[in-house]
Amino acid sequence: MSKKVLFVILDGLGDHPNKELGNKTPLEAAKKPNIDKLAREAENGIVYVIDKGIIPGSDTGHLSLFGYEIDKYYIGRGSFEALGSDIELEEGDLSFRVNFATVSNNIIVDRRINRNDYGLEEILNDFRGILDKIESEYGIKIILKKGVEHRGVLVIKGIKEYNITENDIHEENVKVEKIKALDEKSRLTAEILNKIIDSFYEFSERHEKNKERKEKGLNPVNYILIRGKSVYKELDKKEKFENRYKIKGIFLAAAPMYLGVAKYVGLDTEKPLGSNGTAKENLFSFYQSAIKNRDKYDIVFIHIKGTDSLSHDKKPREKKKFIERIDEELIGKLKDEFDIIVLTGDHSTSSILGRHTSDPVPIMIYHENARRGFVKNFSERKCIKGTLGILKGIEIMKILLDKMEKGIMIGT
Ligand code: ZN
Ligand code: ZN
Repeated sequence: MSKKVLFVILDGLGDHPNKELGNKTPLEAAKKPNIDKLAREAENGIVYVIDKGIIPGSDTGHLSLFGYEIDKYYIGRGSFEALGSDIELEEGDLSFRVNFATVSNNIIVDRRINRNDYGLEEILNDFRGILDKIESEYGIKIILKKGVEHRGVLVIKGIKEYNITENDIHEENVKVEKIKALDEKSRLTAEILNKIIDSFYEFSERHEKNKERKEKGLNPVNYILIRGKSVYKELDKKEKFENRYKIKGIFLAAAPMYLGVAKYVGLDTEKPLGSNGTAKENLFSFYQSAIKNRDKYDIVFIHIKGTDSLSHDKKPREKKKFIERIDEELIGKLKDEFDIIVLTGDHSTSSILGRHTSDPVPIMIYHENARRGFVKNFSERKCIKGTLGILKGIEIMKILLDKMEKGIMIGT
């Protein structure tokens, strides 16, 4: 019987020492008896997910953890958002990651509509008629779909030129910019995007749901910020996960982008029933889904988003508490259900700086015959003393395959 692997990715797990936590990182400060017990019996190390000094995005971070070199396989975030939102992509489709945002007097005042999607679904449904008109005017297809909280995706089918700017520069209190064509041939593409964005602004400003949002003390949903331009290209069949590694895997996550990266590399995917991708994640849904899929797959990936969101929002105490919940409600319950357990992150996110950093993340690989070392607490600083040493993200799958008795031997 092949060994069963649980591979848990806590988004933005690594962090900086924080005065609020007695100069500990949230992971160091967290009481996590289950994780620490496993770490004592595991091989531990630290991972430069892409490479030293490189700040990973969540998409490139995940590709690397799956063992795919980003310079060869990265096609931009938009396609991943689209695939993860169950949008069928064909070669050449243009996709963007969307932030639904609030703009006032041409200034971006909130890039994330208070992380609250109240009324957004209704506004988008009512906006469909205007998108239909733009479609027939230009002979294209437009898909605009919401994801978790303020997130969404925009796909345009039937466009041939892509050399344009984007309008989301990750900053607030700055003037909103029009989409610009960077060459003559892309002018029509820029025109279409500006038309969608401007029409949404005019339309949503008057929408009943935005009046209700204001009454609730929420910022209105009135703007579409786009980034992560991506032109879809399908991964070669022989490069897909199952063909590349000769094992079957499933990826469990709540947020579309992550499900999309997994789909792109050919993993099966599932959004656990009741999961929400927020810092108030329903961890029981992941537990249930992991158990349900264990017999069908060699490897079950779990992606938990909340750790990253809390770091972006500069909430180290809440990140610490969330890690404590993960220890109790997820790792504690699953640790005896799998033969091999991997725990790591896709990058560090500093809850002081509120952004991703190039700092490495800790990793543990627990298995029966682990060369256990001197790591008593699973953390950014302690794991460097572990027997795995310093790894790159793309090395993890190779190491794991050997632990699963599926390694590649060279020579006789
Ligand atoms: Zn991430
Ligand atoms: Zn992040």
